[in-house]
Amino acid sequence: MLAIRNGRVMDPASGLDAVCDVYLADGRVAAVGVNLDVPSKAEVFDASGMVVAPGFLDMHVHLREPGYEYAETIETGSRAAAAGGFTSICCMPNTSPVNDSATVTSFIMERAKQRAVVNVYPIGAITKGSAGEELAGIGSMVRAGAVAISDDGRPVMNSRVMRRAMELAKGHGIPVIDHCEDLNLSAGGDMHEGETSVRRGLRGIPSAAEDVMVARDILLAELTGARYHVAHISTQHAVAMVSFAKKRGLKVSCEATPHHFVLADCDTVAYDSSYKMKPPLRGKQDVSAVLNGLVDGTVEVIATDHAPHAGSDKMQEFERCPFGITGLETAIGITLEQLVHPGKITLMKMVELYTTGPSRVLGLNRGTLAVGAAGDATIFDTSTSWTYDVNKTQSKSRNSPFHGHAYIGGPVATIVNGRIVWQRNA
Ligand SMILES: [Zn+2]
Repeated sequence: MLAIRNGRVMDPASGLDAVCDVYLADGRVAAVGVNLDVPSKAEVFDASGMVVAPGFLDMHVHLREPGYEYAETIETGSRAAAAGGFTSICCMPNTSPVNDSATVTSFIMERAKQRAVVNVYPIGAITKGSAGEELAGIGSMVRAGAVAISDDGRPVMNSRVMRRAMELAKGHGIPVIDHCEDLNLSAGGDMHEGETSVRRGLRGIPSAAEDVMVARDILLAELTGARYHVAHISTQHAVAMVSFAKKRGLKVSCEATPHHFVLADCDTVAYDSSYKMKPPLRGKQDVSAVLNGLVDGTVEVIATDHAPHAGSDKMQEFERCPFGITGLETAIGITLEQLVHPGKITLMKMVELYTTGPSRVLGLNRGTLAVGAAGDATIFDTSTSWTYDVNKTQSKSRNSPFHGHAYIGGPVATIVNGRIVWQRNA
């Protein structure tokens, strides 16, 4: 039993925005209201001056287990999630073995039950081994707990296979999430193709590598009627195409990562692998397009693409380093800094982007503080200054470009199933 007192309770599902209490009991939301009467043995959390939101959901996380436990495990990734204010995460299938069967999905579910401090929802692969050829055991993975399918990192190049995957996913009522990258166009590239890549003598990944795949997928989504979601959208044309698809009434959505709406290619430190990820940090116009997409509703989800890599992997020549950065612990700080403090979006809109937005895409019954809902809450503040120290991360990996960056406002406490699983300064 936990009573969260006097916070500014924001629940986008019902529109509630008021200073009141939230009472959690038996792992559920038991009551929301002013001066709630709660049993005297209930634990009390004073949330005065803080925002109390439904538990945040990050639908794009890499947990590296099974196979790459030296970079992250389900347990450490879940602790990083909790420290970032997330109560639920979806994990991508590019583990070893790839999550392309019910056996691997069940392993992840079981391990999460034993060791994770937040809810973990596996995303199954589209194709066996994410090799892009033969469809994975989609139905059995869904029965084992997979909530979506994706070959994130190794996108399906064969349009016929993608069409079949969409038809199957539609039948199972789950979305297809695509990491949109034409591998032939991006081959050999290390950063966004533009003035900066030319100056540094690095091979570029053109925006078109993303755009052509978003275009193809939208056409296939129309053909099949599937629910289709663009992972980590990064280009102005991709945002425009998603907007077009929505206007046509297609079940198309997209997510943006904090790094893609805060950094451009010219902001990166030359040859620093903490700035190397896919899609790469794009040009200024692309960053503005992603920001505008968040403001106008084209982008309805913020997801981190938390991609831990061990120091030994990231300490090589730039060209040899793997792609990806960690992101769970800095997402709220960056979102406040870039979107809320400058007045681009309201606080309620921010909460939506982390709760009702991803829940709707995945068809999950999460992201609300309605009585009877899961007892998950994210408590954050908007005014305390803090500096991100990657050496204190809960993740096993430290590949973040945001080390040493100061933020105003961030996560304070994370509550899962009615229990506090992480608390600032605790
Ligand atoms: Zn990806």
